[in-house]
Amino acid sequence: MNNKSKTFFIIFLFLFTLSFCIFQGEKSSLAIEKNLLITTQKSNIHNTILANNIYLNQMENTNSNIGQKYYESDRIVQLLKIIMSFIVPALILFTGFSSKLGHFSQKIGRNLFLTAGIYGILYTLIDNLLNLPLTFYGSYVQSHIFGISHQPFVSWIKSYSLELLLTSCGLLFLLWIPYKLIKNHPKRWWIYTGILIIPVTLFIYLAQPVIIDPLFNDFKPLDDKTVERSLIELTKKANIENCKILQIDKSKDTNMINAYMTGIGSSKRIVLWDTAIKSLNLRELRFIMAHEIGHYVLGHIKKLVVVDIIITFIVLYIISKLAPPLINKYSKKLRFKELYNVASYPIAIIIINFCFLFITPSMNAYSCYMERQADNFALEITQDKEAGISAFDKLARNGFVIPSPDPLYKLWKYDHPPINERVEHFKKYKQHKE
Ligand SMILES: [Zn+2]
Repeated sequence: MNNKSKTFFIIFLFLFTLSFCIFQGEKSSLAIEKNLLITTQKSNIHNTILANNIYLNQMENTNSNIGQKYYESDRIVQLLKIIMSFIVPALILFTGFSSKLGHFSQKIGRNLFLTAGIYGILYTLIDNLLNLPLTFYGSYVQSHIFGISHQPFVSWIKSYSLELLLTSCGLLFLLWIPYKLIKNHPKRWWIYTGILIIPVTLFIYLAQPVIIDPLFNDFKPLDDKTVERSLIELTKKANIENCKILQIDKSKDTNMINAYMTGIGSSKRIVLWDTAIKSLNLRELRFIMAHEIGHYVLGHIKKLVVVDIIITFIVLYIISKLAPPLINKYSKKLRFKELYNVASYPIAIIIINFCFLFITPSMNAYSCYMERQADNFALEITQDKEAGISAFDKLARNGFVIPSPDPLYKLWKYDHPPINERVEHFKKYKQHKE
């Protein structure tokens, strides 16, 4: 490779990883349900389809105790996570440790490319180490206690390490670029960084389903060809060409039922968890599928791309305005004076985390709005509200309900409308054939 193509390759890798880190989780925000109903293994004894208010009330009575306990535990976990997301970078910064880490990285790396890469990896390792007890409790212990997951420990460690490895690789190759831009264009670096991220955002949406997701799970065409034919017929009815329908092996980790739409252009696909295929009948699967098709037809993924790009620009702009005066004010404690010093990385992290304190509730509200739109699309195209009611009842029956979460918890965690609200909406819907 000549120098030009090397530079291009490195820039590409940087933006790829940066965007990967920023946009991770987008596709899960389109999933049918995530937070409100937590599957318990023992509840799988219910098998019949039953959809009415009495049932929902019974379910709430039976499982609200577990729901309340889960809520009390998770509320503390979420609060600690937010606190740690500020304490860890602040500790690394204000003890002067970040400056020392910067000097150490420079001594080994010498040039900006390696200095920034080594700093990024060391910072990430320290951050992960300090957060490990909370991460382990929040994503492994708690989900096992409440029956959300039966993922084997080795498999959890593997996923955790893989994510850490991907982040480290990205930082190693790519963290130098914003620092180079900050040094050469101290006033406009945020615009250039934002512009560079746009094509990469598109690439990430295109590549995530085919490159990154398969690292974590196995995807394959549906085993049941009758179901597959019926679902393909539904995509044709919605005028979607070449949309892949795949199943993912989630039953080894959880009993939760889920499905999601991901990718853009040629990589677009609807993924059904194998738990959904096992638990739902054909009519229910068609309804769930229609909901996911709705996300596609209504351009939700494209809208998310635009929102992501806008958020990226806003956050970069805020960093460019807040970070320099902060460094000026605390330069004695921080032991560095310029934003282009890689030791300033934790300041960027603090500002990003601060911005997302406000962005997350708005994003959740927007997500809920899109979910309602997709639900309406499913009702229209299937004209089968009974299938919708019974499918969501099955999700409900396999889970527990948090009886009365406080508004802050709701703002922070609920990216889908509560299931009982959705079921009520289905019941009120007037079908054309009625
Ligand atoms: Zn959805």
